[in-house]
This record gives sequence, structure tokens and C-alpha cells, in this order.
Amino acid sequence: MARLGSWIEPFPEGIYVKPADAWVDPSQPKPQALVTHGHADHARSGHGAVWATPETLAIMAVRYGEQQGRPVAYGETVRVGEVDVSFVPAGHVLGSAQIILEYKGERVVVTGDYKRRPDPTCAPFVVTPCDVLITEATFGLPVFTHPDTGSEIDRLLHRLHSEPERCVLVGAYALGKAQRVIAELRARGHHEPIYYHGAVERLCKLYEDLGVSLGDLRPATGAPKDELKGKIVIAPPSALNDRWSRRLPDPVTAMASGWMRIRQRARQRNVELPLVISDHGDWEELTRTIREVAPREVWITHGREDALMHWCAMHQIKARELNLVGYEDEDEMD
Ligand SMILES: [Zn+2]
Ligand SMILES: [Zn+2]
Repeated sequence: MARLGSWIEPFPEGIYVKPADAWVDPSQPKPQALVTHGHADHARSGHGAVWATPETLAIMAVRYGEQQGRPVAYGETVRVGEVDVSFVPAGHVLGSAQIILEYKGERVVVTGDYKRRPDPTCAPFVVTPCDVLITEATFGLPVFTHPDTGSEIDRLLHRLHSEPERCVLVGAYALGKAQRVIAELRARGHHEPIYYHGAVERLCKLYEDLGVSLGDLRPATGAPKDELKGKIVIAPPSALNDRWSRRLPDPVTAMASGWMRIRQRARQRNVELPLVISDHGDWEELTRTIREVAPREVWITHGREDALMHWCAMHQIKARELNLVGYEDEDEMD
């Protein structure tokens, strides 16, 4: 074969796998799509057939209605055109997968979004050796070092307990982050009821249906102000500063996002308690993953390509940047 991975073609709207006649996470409707996970910038509506994990298909069904789903469980291999396709855990959100593509003796792994830290709501990332690793790079700058999640949760609980007349309103993306924050609180011994904004309700229910226990959850809407004192309320980031939050008892505004590492972002959103909790790997996780996977080539997509390109050059790893469009970090979409 001519060039490594010559059967994979990057286009602005996604990665085209020629011998499968299928696209990975296309941002435009396509006849055949392989979808890494349920976030809206990866899982669009309007495709013909969709290959994805059963959990991702369930998330897409909640958001878009029933899909022409072809469920592929972790570890199972299916044939799409002339390509063997399998899905392995990416550790990003429930059902998130790296997609393994094998054709004529070459193996390409598309990570989708991923992280390496433990997450009680999803299966951990699996290192898969390959020829070409197509990796995300959302936090691909050395300044991004996410702190330990447990210590961020402890800061949240400390703040909650030190001001019992107030509530703590946590902005968290509705798919993945909201459920992870709740599960991390439970793991830290917080068993009080947690209140939610209507926008996160359906996905919390779905997580529970799929076996992720989240404990005592109650709607914030309609709950008397006094009942919410000393309690945690989870809402999508867009609700932090809108009229909805006025019903809450003097909320401490918090937000759980990798971007909270940047003070300016916290200030822009009037966030009093920034919590650096990310579903994407930080610089150390990204570079460690490349070292552990040890691919012959790294293709870098969606995020800060430059610094990771430079790091690969320093480590004698052949790298290339793909200029895909239409991907945003979910923390920025609300
Ligand atoms: Zn994502
Ligand atoms: Zn993404």
C-alpha cells in the first residue's frame, strides 16, 4: 500500500473511510456513519445507518428520536464494506468509544474524545496498539494539568457545608458531566438529595436505566426555596445566569469544566466556584497515551494541534494535523 492510512480521507466535515464507504463522526448527514459518542458535535441527527455502541444509540434516541441503529458492543467486530470495525472504551462519557478500523493489515484507531482518569459513570479507556492513531487535542497545551477530581469534589462539599443558608448551583454539561459530578459526589459520601434542572433530567434517567446509580435526585423546579438551602443543584451551563436560577436560595455559582483552569473563562460566566473537572485528557494524559499506544503515525484533530505536533516532532513521532470543522468542546456548547 502506498502511504500509511491512505484509505482514510480527512474532509472538513469528518473522516471518510473509503473501503467502508462510511464516515466517522460526520458533522453533515451521511448515508453511513460510525459514531464515537453521544455529544452533539460528534453525533448529529439525519444520518442513514449509524454504527455505535448501544449506549450511544440510546443517547441519540433520547435526543433525536429513534436512529437506524447498528449497535456494536465493546469488543465486538463488524464488517462495514471491506473494513473490520470495532469499538473500545474511551472513558469520556457513558458509551463513548474509540473506533478501531482494520483494512489490509493496517490498523487505525480514532480516539474520539477521551480521558484517562477514572470516571464512575463509564468504562475506562483501553490502550490499543495501532499503525495510525487519530487523537483529539482539546487540552493539547502543557499549561493544562487537571487536578485530582476528588479534591475538586471536596472543595465543592466544603463550600456547601460552610454556607448552609445558600445552595451551590453547579453548571455541568447535560450529557456526561452532570452525571459524573453526581456520581463523584456519591463516591465522596454525599447522600443528600441532589436537585436538577429539567434539561438534565432525561439523561440522568437514561444513565440510571443503563445501570449507573445516581442516588436521590429531585427536580429543582417547584421545590420550595427553604428545601434547597444547603443543597446542590445541577444545571446546564446556560442556566447559571438566567432567570431560572433566581428561584434558588442565594446560589453559589459553580461550574465543572476543564476550561475552569482559565480564570478569565470563570469570570466571563460569573462563576464563584470554578471546578476543574474535565472529560478530556490534559496534556500529560494526551502525551502519555501517544507513548503507550506507540503508533507509527499520529494524526491530530480538534483542539490545539500545534503544541502536540511539536511534541511529536521532539519525540521522533511522525505527526500530521487534520483540519476538521464543526467540533467544539461540549463545555462551550449550551
Ligand atoms: Zn465529547
Ligand atoms: Zn468533542
